[in-house]
Amino acid sequence: MYGDVQMNVKLIGYTPNPEKIPAMAAKLTHSNAKPEELENTSDKELQAILKQVTEFGHSSVIEHTNFTFAISDVSRSLTHQLVRHRIASYSQQSQRYVNLKKPSYVIPSTIAKNKELKKTYEQTMNHIWDEYNKFLKLKIPAEDARYLLPNATCTNILVTMNARSLLNFFELRCCQHAQWEIRELAQKMLSLVKKVAPTIFMHAGPACKTRQICPEKKTDCPMYPK
Ligand SMILES: Cc1cc2nc3c(=O)[nH]c(=O)nc-3n(C[C@H](O)[C@H](O)[C@H](O)COP(=O)(O)OP(=O)(O)OC[C@H]3O[C@@H](n4cnc5c(N)ncnc54)[C@H](O)[C@@H]3O)c2cc1C
Repeated sequence: MYGDVQMNVKLIGYTPNPEKIPAMAAKLTHSNAKPEELENTSDKELQAILKQVTEFGHSSVIEHTNFTFAISDVSRSLTHQLVRHRIASYSQQSQRYVNLKKPSYVIPSTIAKNKELKKTYEQTMNHIWDEYNKFLKLKIPAEDARYLLPNATCTNILVTMNARSLLNFFELRCCQHAQWEIRELAQKMLSLVKKVAPTIFMHAGPACKTRQICPEKKTDCPMYPK
């Protein structure tokens, strides 16, 4: 919890048979059978194929499985980083069409735990929102008044990513050195998808876990691969 808001992350939809379809796709590549004939393959065989292809990095087959997340009460700082992940689809609450009349913002814990700094932060936010509402009353369009709003402003976003893109997202954003808010989001998303597609995400996580490398070269990190 940061300030008065709490990040919410919900897995609201995913491809039916999230692991069966990629496993069928993998089997198809090495089979004379037509795709529809592979539907009768046993679950046990499909699981074994999927486990093998994910371990070999034959990752294109898992692109057939998509996951949609509803994410609310996160900062614009977070979503600015999130939308850099291009292999995904996004729908975000608009600051042009929605008037954000009530102050709603994330407070980083480094600030929240310091009484004095927290007070300054809250006063600054309240001042910004007072001015924002003043501008709206003066008939300044919301699309212009929003230029006053800070990175901390809360927002809501719907994200759809396929499993391959999610694995890349988790490698980059579950890392100890990713920024704390997006790391918290990535960890929540990973625990949600693991429940419905445990084989695909069996080894998912930061690069130090998946590939035993540290792209950040943080040799002092406790997770640094030995
Ligand atoms: C710790 C950390 C710090 C960062 N700091 C900064 C920063 O200071 N400044 C900054 O601007 N960004 C920064 N980023 C963002 C980063 O550079 C990426 O934009 C972001 O992580 C998205 O990763 P991606 O491109 O792999 O994902 P996606 O856009 O989802 O792409 C997935 C993969 O598809 C392929 N791909 C996608 N588009 C193309 C393309 N056009 N051409 C070729 N291949 C493509 C690549 O293999 C890519 O890895 C940071 C990210 C992290 C994790």
